[in-house]
Amino acid sequence: MSEAALAEEAAALDAADGLAAKRAEFDLDDGCVYLDGNSLGALPRGVADRIADVVGREWGRLRIRSWEESGWWTAPERVGDRIGRLVGAAPGQVVAGDSTSVNVFKAVVAAIRLTDTASRDEVLVDAATFPTDGYIAQSAARMTGCRVRAVDAADLAREAGPRTAVVLVNHVDYRTGRLHDLPGITAAVRAAGARTVWDLCHSAGALPVHLDADGADFAIGCTYKYLNGGPGAPAFLYVRRALQDRFDSPLPGWNSHADPFAMAPAYTPADGAVRGRVGTPEILALLALDAALDVWDGVDLAAVRAKSLALTDFFLRCVEAYVPQGRVESVTPEAHGERGSQVSLRCAAGPPGGDVMTELIRRGVVGDFRRPDILRFGFTPLYTRFADAERAARVLADVLEGVRG
Ligand SMILES: *Cc1c(COP(=O)(O)O)cnc(C)c1O
Repeated sequence: MSEAALAEEAAALDAADGLAAKRAEFDLDDGCVYLDGNSLGALPRGVADRIADVVGREWGRLRIRSWEESGWWTAPERVGDRIGRLVGAAPGQVVAGDSTSVNVFKAVVAAIRLTDTASRDEVLVDAATFPTDGYIAQSAARMTGCRVRAVDAADLAREAGPRTAVVLVNHVDYRTGRLHDLPGITAAVRAAGARTVWDLCHSAGALPVHLDADGADFAIGCTYKYLNGGPGAPAFLYVRRALQDRFDSPLPGWNSHADPFAMAPAYTPADGAVRGRVGTPEILALLALDAALDVWDGVDLAAVRAKSLALTDFFLRCVEAYVPQGRVESVTPEAHGERGSQVSLRCAAGPPGGDVMTELIRRGVVGDFRRPDILRFGFTPLYTRFADAERAARVLADVLEGVRG
């Protein structure tokens, strides 16, 4: 298909897009095609004013009173519930705070502590996991007398067995964009008598997740990717309600105490999601995230998913049409049921991928590069247009022509 035909198709798709108006809620300019929202989400316009108020009035004027009067103290649970709605968790099961890495630690150790490790001492991780999850699983296993076994995600359901205590899985592979079968793996792991910890970093805000309905035990995720919470925004931890009473946090800070201001020497855990807290919440970052979550009000995740798949399909068609045969190959699954919200292209021939991405960014198409040879393009349906997908593919083709040899 010609450039003109694809550009025309993009315009028609944008005109018919029910989410198109959402883009205006983000601070974006048309000079740049931003396809790195799977690494750092764009800035929602409401954040700056909210933070100015939090700093100027809540901190500046009210000072210590804001812990009560501005709702600072309960912000981790309040923001957690807002995230919960986006990942299929009923209120009271999600708490926001700390980094994803720290929450991986809490969840994996807590899952092991729910288990009799005399009979179950195996922690299964998906072999292609984001590194931090793997490192922390190793440390958690070492501390608890368990061992880690890395298994291809496609085999996790089969490999979970009588020795397995916990299975830690990335819902979407950060490198390839492959979506793993959360309902299927969760059910199989449960049938094997083990527990699941799902890492939702690349699915929260990108596609519908049904933690409660699918029976996930624990989940964690970051909020600075598809949830647009800002650089280093607090992460979240989900603990299934049925497990909360037995959730034994390896980081029982005073904020998770049943009566923190009793300042008691003995630890008595709070009930519910609060038990996942550690220390004093990162209020500025947490309230920036709270403001960023406003863009999700009234948004139907099914519509987000439909647009995400349409965007990635369309981008792949444009790449196919524009980029000379054999220069790149998609490592992202074609099947919709196996695809997250990004497209990863391997540079099959020609200049090094890192140079290609540098040149793309110079020409206003921002994705990212993962060594050794993967160009990643994240598609964030709230603010990415079909015209952006078309332009990105066109510029990619130009770059591959220009920097050849
Ligand atoms: C982005 C990402 C992380 C990041 O962890 P931090 O503690 O926020 O640095 C962890 N896991 C996965 C799968 C990710 O994609």
